[in-house]
Amino acid sequence: MKFAEMTSGRLAQVDRETTLVMLPIAAVEQHGPHLPTGTDTFICQAVAEAVERERPADVLLLPTLWLGASSHHVRFGATLTAELSTYVTTLVEIGASILGDGFRRLMFVNGHGGNIDPMRVALRELQPEYPDTILAAGCYWSPADAAIADLLEGDDKFVGHACEFETSLVMHLRPELVNVDQVGDAGPWLADQVEGLFVCRDMHQRTRAGATGRADLASAEKGRRLFDAAVGGVVRAVQVMIDEPLPE
Ligand SMILES: [Zn+2]
Repeated sequence: MKFAEMTSGRLAQVDRETTLVMLPIAAVEQHGPHLPTGTDTFICQAVAEAVERERPADVLLLPTLWLGASSHHVRFGATLTAELSTYVTTLVEIGASILGDGFRRLMFVNGHGGNIDPMRVALRELQPEYPDTILAAGCYWSPADAAIADLLEGDDKFVGHACEFETSLVMHLRPELVNVDQVGDAGPWLADQVEGLFVCRDMHQRTRAGATGRADLASAEKGRRLFDAAVGGVVRAVQVMIDEPLPE
């Protein structure tokens, strides 16, 4: 089911207890010299739509929130961002719109690293107000971490930025948007985890040109396999969230 394609009358008939409401949250921000700024939005929305196609009776898909928390990309330009407080408030208010209408299961499906901290804060704000609901959030790639690591050939066996993973996915989903002349090895980049600590740096400090990893190893065929792995992972996560008993 797609929220924005339904009338109020049809939405009123949707089962509030069993349906999982899914909000794809993404971003529009610089993705190095080779990928479009809408990369996260294109991929996250495509994954969410594929999940809805597999589980149309259980999933109520909201329109994708394209505005993300991307202040760590701003120094590279080509970035649209919300302040963290604005972003948290936006997620809380979309969530309250759904939960206030009686829905009991809400999941954020995220496609952008900068949204991870604020999406959790938003759920922390909502949970005390709606203690009889199930509130979940995760990146679309996380349930398939192991399968993704197997498919990636570069040293980075995880999702970076404008990396082997994201470049393969855009080559699969929107090949006409990839600047193939600029696809290359991003070279060394700084991690944000050091000795168990989170070290806060922006992308300008962490990368040479706003990208990480081996985009030169990307391919459309790899993108198709990564996409199927990600969709399969989110479908499994959806099932777990539907099976989860509602709190009293
Ligand atoms: Zn992003």
